[in-house]
Amino acid sequence: MKLIAEARKQNRSALDEQAGKALLAEFGVAVPQSAMVAGADEVGQKTKSLKFPVVVKVMSPDILHKSDAGGVKVGLQSAAEVESAIRAMMQQPAIAAARIDGFLVEEMAPPGQEMVIGGLRDPQFGPLVMVGLGGIFVEVLADVSFRICPITRLDAQEMLAELKGAAILKGARGRKAVSQDAIVDALLKVGGENGLLLRHAADIKEADINPLIVSESGAVAVDARFILS
Ligand code: ADP
Ligand code: MG
Repeated sequence: MKLIAEARKQNRSALDEQAGKALLAEFGVAVPQSAMVAGADEVGQKTKSLKFPVVVKVMSPDILHKSDAGGVKVGLQSAAEVESAIRAMMQQPAIAAARIDGFLVEEMAPPGQEMVIGGLRDPQFGPLVMVGLGGIFVEVLADVSFRICPITRLDAQEMLAELKGAAILKGARGRKAVSQDAIVDALLKVGGENGLLLRHAADIKEADINPLIVSESGAVAVDARFILS
């Protein structure tokens, strides 16, 4: 696989976000349309084919949590807004001090519920796939479910059903219901029989899609990180 070989050649221990999303796209997981720019000056030229609103994110091997570093700005309505967001980011101390690969400008995913899909490798059982609701559900409540790969469609459905927050997907408390089928499809593409985790079992130590944004009709992976073994 080219993306993984390329990262290894560069002695990287993980795929960068763009490579991670390209890997997901190869397996049929939807990712946003995007353009990489070196700096604010390139924005007008390189974002012509993107649909606004967009997000801009700093890309740096030194920055794992982009938001914490002030390196994510969502809801930008024009090229001019992207340019000023990039200029403001470059003033952030954590970003000014980092090696910068560039800035990723990407289309906004349709609004929805944020989910997390993860992968890790058990020394005994091999690849495991994980799913949870995003934000505090994963980080504070650890409301996640795991299965050994490969999972079937029924496994994926059960994984969602066993989340404590499962009712949220069905539209609890005035929210809109989101497409559980879209989450199940993404889980199968990652953890199913011909899924990413099994096909690249020798190379991938950990996977973290955080978040997958699920709307009423689909799911888009807007952040992805793959740690190589
Ligand atoms: P990090 O996890 O490194 O801080 P993310 O790429 O996950 O950065 O972006 C932070 C947050 O911004 C996401 O959790 C999501 O809420 C929002 N976001 C990022 N990209 C998009 C996008 N393409 N569409 C909509 N929201 C996005
Ligand atoms: Mg993230």
